[in-house]
Amino acid sequence: MRRVLIVGAGQSGLQLGLSLLAEGYQVTLMSARTPDEIRRGWVMSTQAMFAEALRTERRYGLDLWQDQAPDIHALHVSLSAPPGERALRIPCPLDEPAQSTDQRLKMAAWLELFEERGGTIHYQGVTTADLDGLTRLGRYDLTIVAAGKGDLVGVFARDPQRSVHTTPQRGLAVAYVHGMAPDPLLPVPHVSFNAVPGLGELFVIPALTLSGPCEILFWEAVPDGPLDLWRDRLDPADHLKATLDLARRYTPWIYERCREVELTDARATLSGRYTPTVRLPVAELPSGGAVLGMADVVVANDPVTGQGSNTAAKCAAAYLRSILEHGDRPFDREWMTRTFERFWFDTGRAVTAWTNAMLQPLPPHVQQVLGAAAGNPTIARRFANGFSDPTDFDDWFMSPDRAERYLAEVAG
Ligand SMILES: Cc1cc2nc3c(=O)[nH]c(=O)nc-3n(C[C@H](O)[C@H](O)[C@H](O)COP(=O)(O)OP(=O)(O)OC[C@H]3O[C@@H](n4cnc5c(N)ncnc54)[C@H](O)[C@@H]3O)c2cc1C
Repeated sequence: MRRVLIVGAGQSGLQLGLSLLAEGYQVTLMSARTPDEIRRGWVMSTQAMFAEALRTERRYGLDLWQDQAPDIHALHVSLSAPPGERALRIPCPLDEPAQSTDQRLKMAAWLELFEERGGTIHYQGVTTADLDGLTRLGRYDLTIVAAGKGDLVGVFARDPQRSVHTTPQRGLAVAYVHGMAPDPLLPVPHVSFNAVPGLGELFVIPALTLSGPCEILFWEAVPDGPLDLWRDRLDPADHLKATLDLARRYTPWIYERCREVELTDARATLSGRYTPTVRLPVAELPSGGAVLGMADVVVANDPVTGQGSNTAAKCAAAYLRSILEHGDRPFDREWMTRTFERFWFDTGRAVTAWTNAMLQPLPPHVQQVLGAAAGNPTIARRFANGFSDPTDFDDWFMSPDRAERYLAEVAG
């Protein structure tokens, strides 16, 4: 039986670990935290996941919250100009629902499931020296690092060709709340995406948290601009107050829905920032071993397009496929590189290009597309469904001439 070691028990590491167990592999996971520590910890993400990514979980019966998490049926995009007024509003229906399940719930339960299904877990924060020792002993046929954006990414070199940014592009501020009123203009559960041009974005995402269904208020602030109140970690009550003050000023239509909100629990806020980075997939360790990086370790995009968990799930599915196809042959550097390149070609590069584009001031052709989508449900639907399959954006959204051709086609 082939033995696989996975370092990091998040979306990608646990999904791959559980899928490999189901396929008869012997899997060991190293997790920095126990299920109880995760459940009692701070929120980690807004983790909205769209149909294509959810399908990769469902294939292995990992969708344990499908009946409890609110089904998200649409995006509701608003552009404000000047701040405080809504200039454009676009309801964008999704063909299949998206869902967001608090990673505290999901990762804690998946860890327990992993153990129940025969996996081995070591609870330990892994260092580079540990990794080196683990690969030197030769106990595992393959070691995968799925440790998110933690310090361990340092063993993987930045890929300067594929990394556009050298600094964080947004300050991030998340608050999980109960008591938000429904949107009177679009009563179905939806992700509300409010762009404040030049300053940032406010998202509202229906989700399932520890205490049941909730909404997540998520500011993305252009660094050092007026929305960027998030350099220092605020006390949760001050964080919620700052979130609502900004909503009152810049997106009053969202503030109107927030009159009764309260935080879902004592650890319902998160703030921070990181530099979007693509890394080389294979890390060489001092003793000569090689390990393969996965998901955020190798492709960390800004959450402005809500893709990280989706990409992590797709990366788990892609690596699983490569492992199964490889049979009993050695997992050498050549296989590792090929495995990542296939994932990059099929998924990573489109998500990265689109996400980086969405971090920039919207170019004229994108403004034109959104303007057209406001009056044309076909365009709005295509935009929404691109969140599930971002490779589609390349065919119509990502360049002025392709956008023009598509708009002409739709108009014709
Ligand atoms: C504010 C915010 C909002 C977001 N919103 C969305 C969204 O709406 N939709 C979406 O798809 N994505 C979103 N994301 C991104 C998404 O959460 C991540 O991209 C996704 O969780 C990455 O999965 P992963 O498996 O690579 O890493 P993670 O899920 O981060 O898991 C990594 C795991 O490794 C562990 N670990 C780290 N270092 C070590 C170590 N040294 N030893 C052992 N274990 C270690 C960590 O504790 C963690 O459990 C958001 C992210 C942020 C920050």
